[in-house]
This record gives sequence, structure tokens and C-alpha cells, in this order.
Amino acid sequence: MALKQEKLQVEPKVFKQFINGKWVESASGETFPDYDPFTGEIFAAVPASIRADADRAVEAAAAAFPAWAALPPIEKQKLFLRMADIIERRLPELMGLLAAETGACRPFAMSQIPWTINLLRQAASWGYRSIGDVLPSDHSGKFAMAVRKPLGVVAGITPWNGAHILAWRTSLLPMVFGNTVVLKPSEEAPVMAGLMLAEIAEEAKLPPGVLNIVTHAPGKAKTIADAFFESPHVRCINFTGSTATGRILAERAGKHLKRIVLELGGLNPLVVLRDADVQQAVDATVFGAFLHQGQICLNTRKVIVEKPIADAFLEKLAARASALKIGDPKQPDTVIGPLISDQAAKTVRERVDEAVAAGARLVTGGKNQGRMFPPTVLADVPSHCMVFKEETFGPVLVVETADSADEALGKASSTSYGLCAGLFTGNQEKGLALAEKLDCGIVHVNGPTMHAEPSLPNGGVKDSGWGRSGLYSIEDFTEVRLMTLARGTPRYPI
Ligand code: ADP
Repeated sequence: MALKQEKLQVEPKVFKQFINGKWVESASGETFPDYDPFTGEIFAAVPASIRADADRAVEAAAAAFPAWAALPPIEKQKLFLRMADIIERRLPELMGLLAAETGACRPFAMSQIPWTINLLRQAASWGYRSIGDVLPSDHSGKFAMAVRKPLGVVAGITPWNGAHILAWRTSLLPMVFGNTVVLKPSEEAPVMAGLMLAEIAEEAKLPPGVLNIVTHAPGKAKTIADAFFESPHVRCINFTGSTATGRILAERAGKHLKRIVLELGGLNPLVVLRDADVQQAVDATVFGAFLHQGQICLNTRKVIVEKPIADAFLEKLAARASALKIGDPKQPDTVIGPLISDQAAKTVRERVDEAVAAGARLVTGGKNQGRMFPPTVLADVPSHCMVFKEETFGPVLVVETADSADEALGKASSTSYGLCAGLFTGNQEKGLALAEKLDCGIVHVNGPTMHAEPSLPNGGVKDSGWGRSGLYSIEDFTEVRLMTLARGTPRYPI
């Protein structure tokens, strides 16, 4: 769809939340302000839910589950295809909302919304995937089947950053396989990571209770999550967010014996070998490191370049990074918008300062104005610095050099995270062989660390979590039931 080259307009709005197919206020009657990170003004007023709201949403999802699980795939498919059409129709408006609520500039908004439409259109047919196997039995006459069944209620907890993609991925995949959902969006993006899905689902006529959205004020995430962990109806927590929060949730899931899917942070390396096309590697680095101001879990955090091409690489990288246009995300040509909050900017600021004070070289960027942080490249960063060893959610890239491919791979893998990686080389065979050695859930040879498609398995290992989205999500959102049929006259030992 062609978009006009003009500034996106967004009017502030008061929202309700969506429980059992109805728009309702919080049981407390209170709302909280949702801010535009560029202007600092209130963008929306959103219900500040309490435990009773979450309990109601879980009950609604549980009541809707049997009919939804039994609905034939063709009926589910029609609903998902209608949702895709609605999003396509509302694309410019949704882009405006993404810019206003999350600071997403056009390149990221135009990745998110068409991606979501594709997800809905592709996943609409996944209800036709095989739901099991017929298995041989050692007992003659016994007919054994492994049959995939939906789990029940899946509680989704989503972050603010890739608001629309992640909220749809979190809710849609469980629904495709017959589960009902309660979604708790981030308090930083309750509209685009939550309430907007309900508007679309309602217009598409999704049955009441199949998708419920509960919003909450800052500091109240745990109160809502308590309802998820403590309800016997909730059979799975589907979480995307930071490793720190993932760890807390995994501990609670252990206590309550809930299944949990975790897509967490990463310290994603890109390895550039001496035989790589330097310009292509630079372009992939700029895209991978700075899209959405470096606030995506798949962003490149580190580049490890082989020494013979390191100077040429750094020079081109600095030139491209410093030329990216910074400003209002609602303007069509802006590439770098604001960080989501003052706190986020403060953390990035502190980490850059720490590295520079410890002797790191600032190749470009580094000077922010409040939430506006320019693309920043650091070299010679000591390994004890936070920006070297922890995920830093901002437009900051660490560049290292290596004497050999083996050394570069060693540096790339020396992290407790394991989400994604990239590797550039002129030799495809060598690229695949080396990619095998990287310890992570996703590796792209001759591509940026950031590449996701609706059907492909996205997810990490180690501190980056577990579970896979896309076609593989059937593993996470169904369980296998063994069913047998005895034919003939069985003999028993007693
Ligand atoms: P990010 O910084 O990427 O937003 P977080 O892990 O802080 O990552 O947040 C991701 C999601 O986790 C948000 O919806 C947030 O409200 C939620 N969250 C944060 N802390 C908790 C908690 N203790 N229990 C349940 N959810 C939480």
C-alpha cells in the first residue's frame, strides 16, 4: 500500500480494556497516562487494572475455551484472514499510533505492520497442520495415536518495543492451535501491544472471551501476573521481555508447575571475516544495530571484525551511522526516534559514560539530548563494562577486532546469552560451517542479526530463553495425548 509522504497525525484518546468481548473500565475505575516518548505529552488514558480484572479475564478465557478449541479450522481461518484485512485497511493509522506510543519510525513501523498481516495470513492455515501420529504398538490389535491438544488458557505477557508484532505473535499462535488468551501488554505500550488487537478482533467478530486484554499501571505487572500463576485455568505463560523478568517468571512457573515460553534478551554478535564484502557488512550492521534506536531483542550489540578489514569497516560504519536522521518519528524521513523513557535514556547514558571512562574509544555518536540518543559506536571497550557484557537497550554498538575467524567466533560466543548472530564471509560453505559453531537460537550467514519471518522459528538458548515461534510453536501451545483403542480380546497378567 502506498503511504503519503506527510507527518502522521494522532489524537489522544481514552481507552477501556477488553474482557469477554466487552469494553470495560478497570474494577477500580482508575486510568493511567500513556506518554508519547517524543513529545512527552499524554497519548492515551488506559485502565489501571487490579487483580479482579485479571481474574475476570481468566474466567472469560476459560469459559470460551471448549467452543474455541472445537471450532473447525476453516472457521478460525476466516476470522484470522478478516483480522489481516482490517489491519491492512488501518495501516496508516496504526503506523501513527506506533510512532506516537513507542517512537517507532517509518522503517520499523513498515516492518511491523505488514509483518503482522503476513503472520495472520500465514498462520490462518496452521490449524490444518497435522495434529498427531499413529504409532505402532507391541500389543497386537492395539491402535495407538499421539494426538495434539490445545492447552487451555494461555497468558501472554508482552514488552513495549516491537509492540504490534510481539503482541500478535504472543496471542495469535496459541489461538491458532485452539487455546484462548489473556494478554497483558507492557505498561509502556498498552494500546499497540494490546488494546488495538482487541479493536481488530472485535471488528472481525472473534467470539467473546477468546482474546482478552488486561492493562495495568506501572509497577502493577506482578499483580496481574499473580492471577495468571494462581489460576488452574492458565496452563501456559507466553512471555517476551527482558532476561531479568524472564528469570522471575520462570521461577514462579516452577512453583506453580506452569508451562512457560520465554523469548528474552540477547547480546547479539555479528562476525565479519576478512573475505566479506565490507559495504554489505556495514549496511547490515547499521540496520541490525540501529533500527528502532537499538530497542529490539534481535538488534546487533557487538561486531567482531577480522583485523585486515577493521579500519575500512569502521570508517564506513561511522560515516553511515552518523548520517542517520534523528528526530520526530511521525515525520516520514526520520530514522532514529526517541528512546522509550527518561529511565531508558539514563541507563544508556550511564553505560556509554562508564565505557568511555574505562578507556573505550567513541567512534561516533555518544551525546544525547534527553531521550534522543544518536547512533553510537564504541571500540576498545574493556570487558568489565556493562555495555560489553549486558544487553543495552539503545543505539549503542561495540566493535571488537580479531586476528582469525576462530578468535572472532570465540569472542562472539563468550556471553551467557544466545539469541541470534550474524556472520559475513565471501565463502558460503565456510560461513555455514562456522555458523554451526555459534551457540545461539538463530544464525544468519551474510545477513544481519535481525531477520524474522512469521513462519520461521524465532527464539534463543541459554539466558535468551526457550520456545520457538512460527510453525514450531505448535510444540509450545499443544500437548500430546496418547490415545489407544484395543481391538480383539486383550490378555492381562492378573
Ligand atoms: P522490557 O524492558 O523489554 O519492557 P520487561 O521484562 O521489563 O522488558 O517487561 C516485559 C513485560 O514483562 C512487560 O509487560 C512488563 O509489564 C512485564 N513484567 C515486568 N515485571 C514483571 C513481573 N514481576 N511479573 C510479571 N510481568 C512483569
